[in-house]
Amino acid sequence: MKTIECDVVVVGAGPAGLAAAEAARLAGAERVLIVERDTRAGGILQQCIHPGFGLKMFGEELTGPEYAGRYQERADKAGVELMTCTTALELRDRELVCANSDGILNVRFGALVLAMGCRERTRANLVIPGARPSGIYTAGTAQKLINLYGDKVGREIVILGSGDIGMIMARRLTLEGAHVKAVVELLPFLAGLTRNKVQCLDDFGIPLLLSHTVIDIDGVDRLTSVTIAPVDEKRRPILDKAEKIPCDTLLLSVGLIPENELSRTGGIALSPITRGPLVNQFKQTSNPAVFACGNVLHVNDLVDHVSVESAEAGRCAALFAANRLPSASAFSTVAGPGIRYVCPQTVVADGGADVTLFFRTLVPGRRTVLRCVSGGKELARKTCIRTSPGTMESLVIPKDAVAALNDSIEVSCEHGEVLA
Ligand SMILES: Cc1cc2nc3c(=O)[nH]c(=O)nc-3n(C[C@H](O)[C@H](O)[C@H](O)COP(=O)(O)OP(=O)(O)OC[C@H]3O[C@@H](n4cnc5c(N)ncnc54)[C@H](O)[C@@H]3O)c2cc1C
Repeated sequence: MKTIECDVVVVGAGPAGLAAAEAARLAGAERVLIVERDTRAGGILQQCIHPGFGLKMFGEELTGPEYAGRYQERADKAGVELMTCTTALELRDRELVCANSDGILNVRFGALVLAMGCRERTRANLVIPGARPSGIYTAGTAQKLINLYGDKVGREIVILGSGDIGMIMARRLTLEGAHVKAVVELLPFLAGLTRNKVQCLDDFGIPLLLSHTVIDIDGVDRLTSVTIAPVDEKRRPILDKAEKIPCDTLLLSVGLIPENELSRTGGIALSPITRGPLVNQFKQTSNPAVFACGNVLHVNDLVDHVSVESAEAGRCAALFAANRLPSASAFSTVAGPGIRYVCPQTVVADGGADVTLFFRTLVPGRRTVLRCVSGGKELARKTCIRTSPGTMESLVIPKDAVAALNDSIEVSCEHGEVLA
């Protein structure tokens, strides 16, 4: 069995892994290796050929492959090693077990960064009743089939879920000549970004049916129709208002789940809400030598956020490998009124830098005040014209306040007007 030694090993060469690896090298780690199971770097961005990436990071509108390409160049330039076609199978104490066509490979590390991304929820996760014909895809699978393999997935389409990937696919399929009959959303509000509703649904006249769901699926070999129904306030279908929509394709855009099988093998503590590892502001998990970033940590709306967060994870992993990462008392972050979750889940009272708390609100609203408070003292506050659960929000705690922490930090949200 072959063994490799490195200062920092990164699992996954998506935008998170590339940014983390580059930052680890720039922070002084000598040997930085990315292990990637795919044939090339780029992660999910390889199939996202639409523009809209990099507005914050590069001040331009890039496609997914262009954005990933820029980060790959930066990682190459920084001297990062990339091992493709290699899957990380098991995490042991300071050792990662991988497999590729040469057999089993052990990678011994000073620090490890988990950057495995996420996977889509499927029909099995939702338990939609009905027949089991072909023609039912997750939105990401349909995106891959169309954008990478040139397949036409269907002609008459219904999309369940108003997540960003579903809305982007509504536009993509329309441009390919398909007829998208409706985007059906269980919640009374949009799950994805408003900008995607405007650019992908409104601009193409695609109806969005809020507070509706799919209750039945028909078809023998191929899908022939789905039955949709409005839902009441407890999300129960109102059956006497059900309606059959003839279609040959159903796309599911119903959420992403962090890819955490590897984290489980290493006994990393996971959050029941984000389903990613619990971390402090250094992105350090319950195993101090293991860091996590990108969609494996919590599902991000914009890749630009992923790059910033992942660079911090890589930098801190390099410091840990060199025994230079500070350790001090850590205080919990708490999702207070109106907040679904906060990441990181703990903050170490080290005043070396400002700390950004990322979080999502529970319902959409206008004139929203976001606050974070610790020991009765307000540490940060922001007023937003509009907020929605589809958009990641953030508050920055100044470094002096971080150094002075002596209690948990509660993040809360108060809407001037609730829009749900
Ligand atoms: C289908 C889909 C479409 C999306 N479209 C958009 C969009 O249009 N715009 C946008 O801003 N965001 C989009 N996103 C969100 C996007 O995922 C993030 O912005 C960003 O790409 C996340 O980066 P990541 O590096 O964390 O994950 P990924 O890009 O998913 O990269 C993870 C990498 O880890 C590798 N990996 C996983 N497990 C292992 C293992 N055990 N061993 C070795 N390698 C492993 C994978 O092969 C992959 O290359 C989309 C997400 C999905 C799932």
